[in-house]
Amino acid sequence: MKVLLLLGLVAVALADITRFEGEKVFRLKPVLDEHVTLIKELAKSIEVDFWSPESAELVSIDMDVDIRVPAMYLDMVFTFLQQNDMKIEVLIEDLQSAVDAQADNKPSPRAHSYTKYNNWDKVESWIASISSSNSDLISKQVIGNTYEGRPMTLLKLGRKSSSTKPAIFMDCGIHAREWISPAFCQWFVKEALSTYGRDAQMTSLLDEMDVFVLPVLNVDGYDYTHKSNRMWRKTRSRRSGSSCVGADPNRNFDAGWCTVGASNNPCSDIFCGYKIESEIEAKNVADFIRRNKSIIKAYLTVHSYSQLLLFPYAYTYELSATHSELLKVAEGASAALRSLYGTRYTSGPAAATIYPAAGGSDDWAHDLGVKYSYTFELRDTGRYGFLLPESQIKPTCEETMLAVKYIASYVQKNLY
Ligand SMILES: [Zn+2]
Repeated sequence: MKVLLLLGLVAVALADITRFEGEKVFRLKPVLDEHVTLIKELAKSIEVDFWSPESAELVSIDMDVDIRVPAMYLDMVFTFLQQNDMKIEVLIEDLQSAVDAQADNKPSPRAHSYTKYNNWDKVESWIASISSSNSDLISKQVIGNTYEGRPMTLLKLGRKSSSTKPAIFMDCGIHAREWISPAFCQWFVKEALSTYGRDAQMTSLLDEMDVFVLPVLNVDGYDYTHKSNRMWRKTRSRRSGSSCVGADPNRNFDAGWCTVGASNNPCSDIFCGYKIESEIEAKNVADFIRRNKSIIKAYLTVHSYSQLLLFPYAYTYELSATHSELLKVAEGASAALRSLYGTRYTSGPAAATIYPAAGGSDDWAHDLGVKYSYTFELRDTGRYGFLLPESQIKPTCEETMLAVKYIASYVQKNLY
């Protein structure tokens, strides 16, 4: 009887988790205007999850289009695309297998690990323990709560000083399913603390500047990807009258809001929100940066995937007034990153490099006056996409550290 009861509970628990058996991820290569139209039509008629670009609205000619297709539509999609002479490559043969294969580092049932994808509970207790165990170099503050009431805890790294220091702000995990991103923020904190006093550059950085790190911006979404749907991207806000949940926090900032590369359909994965900063997570970050804008000299935001280092603007093809300097620093950072494992990044202004998209945090911060504003799109280029195996956390974080340190060092040298 007890066993039956237990089995029943397990079944209930499993029922809440979205499974992806038989689903595939395709890479399509639209080379005709007609192909672009077909992809957009396909997206309207069946449920397709766009991995890259982030929505059907963003598809244009000669672009790699990575889409996740539910098992029940596979035959139909395959036939449809082949009849129209579109090139198709299978990136992921069976999505559930890829989800399962992602955890390829040794399991650590209870403990936090820098080479595992830690769930929110583990990240939260890690934040508490790391900030109390190194009180001379790190402190924490809650900058607000998420929609579902979880605290957004910001870490401040830097040698204590009686005067206000210039700072760098970095956030991870704006998009829930980009798990390598929060893994990088955790890695950065560990590296900063463990190399202070040993690595001359890190020591000098933390002596002269503070680095604010928000390990997970979209906490509700991140928690949801661990507990319910691995492929969730947006926030988890709800509004009466709509059955669709959440908005894209990286379309919700006050930067050409919802004019281009964003959707006003609440069901879209690039929904810009009902108004600017409607998403409390975006508002909390924006409020903090506004309050501290006189000291924040650089804004870094970490996403995946595609191996890009982007800078303003995304909401317009116009170049920033400081374009040449931003490009020079991005190219230097990409070269530093590549020096370790040969990983190639493309850098440039977002609109011209990928596609125009409004409401992004990097454009907003730049227009507020934070000159050095960069978006990282970490590994890979689509082989695993959002399901980057844990065995790649360490090399990805190591190489990304070099790029972040390059930017930080440049900013530090150009403070005054
Ligand atoms: Zn993202």
